This record gives sequence, C-alpha cells and structure tokens, in this order.
Amino acid sequence: RSKSSGRRTVSFFNAAMMAETVARMELIAELRKAIEDQQFRLAYQPIIDLSGRRRLAGFEALVRWQHPVRGVLGPGDFLDVATSAGLDGELCAFTIKVAARQMRAWLDQGFDPGHVAINLSATELRDSSVPARVVAALAENRLLPRHLEIEITENVVISQDSKIEANLEALHHLGVRIALDDFGTGYSSLAHLKRFPVDVLKIDQSFVRDMETDPEDAVIARTIVRLAHSLDLKVVAEGIETEGQLARLRRMGCDHGQGYLIAKPALAEPATAWLAARQRRGPNVA
Ligand code: C2E
Ligand code: MG
Ligand code: MG
Ligand code: MG
Repeated sequence: RSKSSGRRTVSFFNAAMMAETVARMELIAELRKAIEDQQFRLAYQPIIDLSGRRRLAGFEALVRWQHPVRGVLGPGDFLDVATSAGLDGELCAFTIKVAARQMRAWLDQGFDPGHVAINLSATELRDSSVPARVVAALAENRLLPRHLEIEITENVVISQDSKIEANLEALHHLGVRIALDDFGTGYSSLAHLKRFPVDVLKIDQSFVRDMETDPEDAVIARTIVRLAHSLDLKVVAEGIETEGQLARLRRMGCDHGQGYLIAKPALAEPATAWLAARQRRGPNVA
C-alpha cells in the first residue's frame, strides 16, 4: 500500500513539476516577445530630502511589465526567470537607456529631479558592456554622471567578482554614485563597505516598517544612519508609509527617504504630473 501511494506521490510530483516547467517556458517565450514588443516600462518613485524643505533628491526607476493579458507586473513576477533565461542583459540595456532619456525629458521640461537611480543585479553588473552603456546613455542625453545612480544589493558586494568590481569602479570613477540597497538584510561586512566604491546606504524597508513598534528595528535604523555618516556616506530610508516613521527618521538624521507616504512608484506620465503639481504648490505639501 505504502508503495503504491508512494508511486502516486511521485507521479503527482512529476505532474506538478511538468506544469511548472511548462509555465516557466511560456513565461520565457512571453518575456522574449515583451522585449521585442517593448512591453517594459519604468515606474519612478521620488526620493526626498528629509530635512526641513523636503527637497526632491531624485527618483528610483523600477521596472514594470505591461503584460497584454495579466496587466502590470512587478519585478517579483518575472525578474528571476528573466535572469535565469539570460534576458536580463536586454532589460539592463532598456533600464539604462529609458531612465537616462526620462531624466533628459524632465530637464528639458524645466524640472530638476536630481538623479534617477537604476537597480542592477549581480548578473547584469558582470557584463563588461555596462560602463560603456552608461557612458553612451549620458552622452546621448547630455547628462552629467551625477544625474544617474546605480543601486546594487549586498549580493553584488559579497560576490567577490572581479568583473563586477571593475565595472563598479569604472562607473564610480566617472562620477556615477553607487547606492547599497536593502542594507542590513544581507551578509556584507564593514570590510566589503570599505573595499567597494559605495556612496549611499539604503536602509531596508523591513527596518522602517516596524520601527515605531519594535525598538530593535529603530536601533538598527539609527545604527545604519550613524554608520553611514561616520563613513561619510549618505543614507536613504525605504518604505516610509507613516508620518511617525518619517518624523523618527528625520530625528535620527537620515538624509533622504522614499515610500508610499511620499508617493508610490508611477509611470513617466503620472510621475511628471506629480513633479508639476509639486512645483506649483511648493515642496512642503508633497
Ligand atoms: P528595491 O530596489 O529595494 O525597491 C523598493 C521596492 O519597494 C519596490 O518594489 C517599490 O515599489 C517598493 N516600495 C516603495 N515604497 C514602498 C512602501 O512605502 N511600502 C512598501 N511596502 N513597498 C514600497 P518593486 O518595484 O516591486 O521592486 C522590487 C525589487 O525588484 C526592487 O527592490 C529591486 O531590487 C528589483 N528591481 C526593480 N526594478 C529593477 C530593475 O529595473 N532591474 C533590476 N535588476 N532589479 C529591479
Ligand atoms: Mg532599489
Ligand atoms: Mg531596497
Ligand atoms: Mg528590496
């Protein structure tokens, strides 16, 4: 009996695996088509100065897939599969190009959005064409290096990959700032921080989320702010959803912040409308 039920379990498992493989293959085919048909978009989330005037410091660009049937999909729905299928190079090229073009469009419309930050994964950063792509995007759009920022995660830092290090050094040398995203959640050490050309630490949203109720999270956030400042780095808090979180972060001396409280990530058109409304009303209202 146990033998037959065991066999049934195995065949069920195979069926599930088969279904998963088929779904994955379909997703890969759809992703290839999406690249061809230009179904990817960037959403932009403002990052503001947490000091008195709430000046706009920059935007973070976040990839979205305008799927013809399933609607707007976020990176969590497709990025891993895209990466394992080797399609992330195309996505990376897209992100750099479109973010730079959007920055130029905003400057031409008389806005000063500071910078646009682009998220790059370890596999994307391993590609030796990345610095050249960034240089080309800057030149084509008549941008300064400070108009772009690159966000990397601790995976990138701990990868000990000499290609990645060389690419980041090249970008940093150009004057493109490097931000360490989701800081505090990974396994990077202070030695990594010292070795890598990092300019900005981004406090992971998990510490911000519970900082009003969990004293440990508040301590971690404060410690990251102090660490950043003692290393002469800027610090950004992610995932600010309440006035209480914002007030605490400001008291801690956190330089910049982003989150749904300030604005959700929005496609180019609504993000531009947000900029325009903010310029009309003054920054304190946004
Ligand atoms: P991340 O870079 O840490 O981005 C922050 C994520 O938090 C974004 O999710 C954003 O929409 C979300 N978020 C912003 N404010 C709030 C808030 O107040 N509350 C909550 N709960 N969430 C907030 P998203 O857009 O789904 O992106 C997820 C991750 O995917 C990003 O995390 C980043 O690591 C990666 N990613 C996004 N765009 C790209 C891209 O173009 N290329 C690569 N390689 N990775 C990307
Ligand atoms: Mg990021
Ligand atoms: Mg993050
Ligand atoms: Mg994250």
